[in-house]
Amino acid sequence: MVVEEKFIGIQCDNCLEFSDNGDGGEFFADELTAQNNAMENEWHKTDDGKHYCTDCHYFDDKDVLVIGHAEKVEHDKIKFDESLKPKQHE
Ligand SMILES: [Zn+2]
Repeated sequence: MVVEEKFIGIQCDNCLEFSDNGDGGEFFADELTAQNNAMENEWHKTDDGKHYCTDCHYFDDKDVLVIGHAEKVEHDKIKFDESLKPKQHE
């Protein structure tokens, strides 16, 4: 017989990168494991269910989440494209 099994992956809503388990694996047997893996990788999950990898988010000096396309420049410095920032909900 043919059995189809679902696997869950967490994909960055900005750069479409998958969270992996450090071993190249990007899919997990259930959502909780996948979510936990992303959190361990210091991904950020928003209240509306979006995920952002470490390269695509940071917190500014007011601790406000900033999302953007990260372009790694020198060392740890990350440049964010402000135009990709999501609009604030008033
Ligand atoms: Zn990303």
